[in-house]
Amino acid sequence: MKNSGNPGSIAPKIIPRAAHNVSRNEFSKSALKVLYRLNKAGYQAFLVGGCVRDAMLVLHPKDFDVATNATPEEVRALFGNCRLIGRRFRLAHVRFGREIIEVATFRAAANHVDDDVEHDREGRIIRDNVYGTIDEDVWRRDFTCNALYYNIADFSIWDYVGGVEDVERRQLVLIGDPEQRLREDPVRMLRAVRFAAKLDFSIDAPVVEAMHHHASLLSNVPAARLFDEFLKLFQSGHAERTFDLLREHGLFAEMFPATEQELLADDDFMKFVRAALQNTDRRVAAGKSVTPMFLLGVFFWLPVRKLAAIRRSEEKMSETQSLSLASYDIVAAQQRLLSIPRRFTVPMREMLALQPRFLHTAGKRAMKLLEHRRFRAAYDFMVLLAEVGQVDADIAKFWTDVQTQSTSERGTSFKMDAQPGKKRRARSRRRRKRPQES
Ligand code: ATP
Ligand code: MG
Repeated sequence: MKNSGNPGSIAPKIIPRAAHNVSRNEFSKSALKVLYRLNKAGYQAFLVGGCVRDAMLVLHPKDFDVATNATPEEVRALFGNCRLIGRRFRLAHVRFGREIIEVATFRAAANHVDDDVEHDREGRIIRDNVYGTIDEDVWRRDFTCNALYYNIADFSIWDYVGGVEDVERRQLVLIGDPEQRLREDPVRMLRAVRFAAKLDFSIDAPVVEAMHHHASLLSNVPAARLFDEFLKLFQSGHAERTFDLLREHGLFAEMFPATEQELLADDDFMKFVRAALQNTDRRVAAGKSVTPMFLLGVFFWLPVRKLAAIRRSEEKMSETQSLSLASYDIVAAQQRLLSIPRRFTVPMREMLALQPRFLHTAGKRAMKLLEHRRFRAAYDFMVLLAEVGQVDADIAKFWTDVQTQSTSERGTSFKMDAQPGKKRRARSRRRRKRPQES
């Protein structure tokens, strides 16, 4: 490719292998293979971004981004296992089994060139596909700690922006003017919070100030991108810290306004949400799976219950029905900001609507709950409510115990023997103990 050159370029500080702690053992074999092959073919090949930062912090990076002066087409010509993707950024994906190495061609900084870069009215970048050199590419990156390049040619680190020092100081510093960089891409505010929570870094004061001016710009971000970011924020093992930081910087209210409103007014709800976040972090730490619908259900629980109570006061319907209808409406309002795929909203609605059924512990219908396809998630949700004292502990114990009982024991537990053949639903003493209504 032709190098456009950069008249205003600054020389990088090149830190030789002997003067830094980044070991190749921190990088995946596949990433190294891609780098070596590019290098052998005469291209520049660097690792860049989170993997270099995490390797410096000995955090064992899992995701590797390669930056090169080869164009996507030139990358494809080198690798059989390669696909070109993306519109906003054209990238090459090189696949090794289940691992994908992302290879990006250096790009010119958006503010250095006017052609082939699109902005919207607020200054957000919609498309930029102008290839450039490494000393142009660096200025497009968000934080200084994310702008370190590891050169496979001699294992040195190229630092244009003082990133090494900022990693050592544990500071998140935006490259360039924070106000402008957040206007260009408001998601950088969420990224600041995510990295602060994950790395235990502080956010640089001017960035914090700019965040406070621009929090409302999150509403311009496409709802699907915000959902992707939500997943990274809350499923990376630092959900509770992330939640606190998002609220501290006024970002949570932009993402989940109905939830924020209830959090401000109701300490019990806050207690429940916090318990769920801690539970999510524990699951991630233990290597267990997490589904976004669970935490979303937690976030919407009080807004949904309040709306359900209104629906019941307007029209005669069961609590279950009202919860299901209310979930539908709360989710519909939420979708405008953060679009949650149907594969999560449908099970979430079922999980919430099943909650009143745990209060019935006798009879055939109660026993049938065990076979419901959403029993497991709904049960976990109920147990969490019990943990924070919002469902009776006896109820939680009942449903925990019956799961391991034999069929005949279950019959006794659900008082099936007491009323052979009768259709009438048995009413447990426990039934009166409902979760507190708001
Ligand atoms: P992690 O992989 O831990 O989430 P990361 O820093 O690698 O963190 P990615 O989203 O994988 O984050 O992005 C890779 C690199 O691309 C970043 O380190 C940064 O240099 C650049 N980058 C990503 N998103 C943006 C953005 N919105 N604005 C500017 N640069 C970005
Ligand atoms: Mg990454």
